[in-house]
Parts: sequence; C-alpha cells; structure tokens
Amino acid sequence: MLALAGIPLNCSFVFVDPNADAPASALGSHVVCNYTDIAGLEALAACDVVTYEFESVPVEAADTLAERVAVFPPPLALRVAQDRFLEKSRFRELGIATAPFEAVNSAEELALAVLKLGLPAVLKTRRLGYDGKGQVVLKRPEDVPAAWAAVAGAASILEGFVRFERELSLLAVRGRGGEVRFYPLVENHHERGILRKSIAPAPAVMSELQGAAEHSATKILENLGYVGVLALELFQVGDTLVANEIAPRVHNSGHYSIEGSRTSQFENHLRAILGLPLGDTSPLSPSCMLNLVGSLPDSAAVLGVPDAHLHLYGKSARAGRKVGHITVRGTTDAELAKRVATLEALPGVCDSR
Ligand code: AMP
Repeated sequence: MLALAGIPLNCSFVFVDPNADAPASALGSHVVCNYTDIAGLEALAACDVVTYEFESVPVEAADTLAERVAVFPPPLALRVAQDRFLEKSRFRELGIATAPFEAVNSAEELALAVLKLGLPAVLKTRRLGYDGKGQVVLKRPEDVPAAWAAVAGAASILEGFVRFERELSLLAVRGRGGEVRFYPLVENHHERGILRKSIAPAPAVMSELQGAAEHSATKILENLGYVGVLALELFQVGDTLVANEIAPRVHNSGHYSIEGSRTSQFENHLRAILGLPLGDTSPLSPSCMLNLVGSLPDSAAVLGVPDAHLHLYGKSARAGRKVGHITVRGTTDAELAKRVATLEALPGVCDSR
C-alpha cells in the first residue's frame, strides 16, 4: 500500500522481505533475505531513504543502515516500540497516562506485581507481542503459575486491567522539518486480540478528547525526533485517555484513509520521509474498515455494496492471518452502519478461522 501510494509520486521501491511471496514484490525489486543479511542491507543502503512497515525489524539492521542512509522513522522509535517496558516507561516520563505497570522477570516478581497492582491484570511479554499474542489475563492469585508458564518465562510486564469504554487510535504524521498533522481519532474493535473493524472518524468524539490525544502524540513525536506516520493506541475511560502502545509505522487502523481521507496515511508517510509537504488529513466521509481475517468473501458480493472498496493482499488464507480489508463509506453515519451490516453478513467477512 505504501508502494501503491508512491508510484504516482515517481518513487521506485526496493523491498526486503524473507517471504518470497511478499505481496509487495509485484511493485518493485524484492530482495528475499532476512532483515540482517548483507544482501538486503546493501540493497537498502543504495536507496535515497529507508522505511519499515513491520515493527519486528531488528533494531540492529535499522541502526546499521542509519549510518549510511536516511532511515525514518528513526531506529530509536523502533527500539522503544519493540519493548513494552521501555514504551510504557517513556509514556510515564512524558506525563502520558498509562495503565499501572511493573516489570516482571520471574514468577516471584509476578506474584509481587500482582500484590502491588491487584487483579484483574494483564501479563504481556516485553517483546514480540502483537495481535494479542504473548498476553494472558490474570483474574485470581492462583493464575500466577499458569500465566508465568504461558509467557514461557520471558521478560514481561504486568499491567493493571483497564476497564475502558472503547479503544481508539490516533494516526499522526511528522515531516522532516517538524511539521505535524493528525487524522481524526478512529474507533477500533478487536476480536481475540486482532483488529476486526475501525470506524473513522470515531463517533461522538468531543474536541477536548481529540485535543488530548494530539497533545500526547506531539510529545511522543518530538521526544523521539520522529519522521513518518505513527499510530498511538488508546483506551477511552470516561472522558480521559489511557495510552496503550505506539506503532512506529503506517497502521492497520489507518487503512481506511485510502478512500476515507483527503490524503492517505501511506501517501503522507512517504511525503514525510521524502521531506515533501504533508497532505490534508481531513476525512471525506464517515468510513469503516473491516479486516478480512483467515477467510475471503466473494469479491463481487463485496463490490456490490455501494461505495465498498476491496483490498486483497495476495496472501493465502490461514487462521488468524490478515489477508485483506474492505473500506466502505457512507454519506451519513446511518447509511454507513447499514452498509457495514450488509458487508458483515456476507460469508467470509467475519468468519475468523
Ligand atoms: P496490545 O497487544 O497491548 O495491543 O493488546 C491487545 C488488546 O488487549 C488491546 O487492544 C486491548 O483490547 C486488550 N488490552 C491490552 N492491554 C490491556 C489492559 N491493560 N487492560 C485491558 N485490556 C487490555
């Protein structure tokens, strides 16, 4: 999707992805190797600018490249986002509200953290957790041994359980000269830890809430010397926001922006890292993005719904795998809701296998 946004800007692309079937390979030259392999690093070092859209890229690879070529977002953002303890500690240092949390390195420390934070609580591995992986909810003190076994003794954090009303995300973009723009807050719905649906703009958002989210994001962007699109994932609790995590990249909850915004997150990410003026982030209409997880609907049935747009990633369907998404727009919230309901009733749209 980044490359599709960049081709009209005359960009050409080199992709490094260990998967020979990577969907992007149709849109540029594809070096099939691990992220730390010399062949991939050399190919990227020969580019004008390097970015990433997958946050498990090894920081060492980004650091090595940053000595030779502009790498955006900066590797520091990757380092912070890859470690939930560093990430939440940075939120705390910046005065951004988070769930209470404690670092946990042993079953004893977990038991102590449970005493300190109370239950329910969520145990998460510090690294390599996404889409709800590497996470366990503890409800009773007896859950401690099983929870510790579930994370296989990996360095973790325990977080107090946040009783949120809803989950929101803020897409922000910062240019090379420090210019910042924000998309409107998006409302996100997860199933089994995987994003299923994003409604954009999030309904019933007071300007104070949007302002509070933008204030937090600005602190993070400036603190990290950030360039590119960043997603800030938030819980709404009453009229307040609790920060959960950042994604230092274009984000699934911003996919709606291809059809739903004046400038998509993908185009704005490229504009930012290329040092071009940023584009208008305002919405064109109420939109909803539905992820296709583990199964595919009939394309004609999807496209038969007015103003529905289908994005298939060319990936084989497998349980829990995001294989595409649909964005549908409506001229009013009511029209949008009707179209979303029609799409959700189609076989393959909501069957998570
Ligand atoms: P994460 O991997 O941190 O994005 O968490 C995945 C999902 O788990 C979130 O989108 C929430 O639905 C839920 N979750 C994560 N942390 C907490 C928490 N501290 N309290 C309640 N729910 C949480």
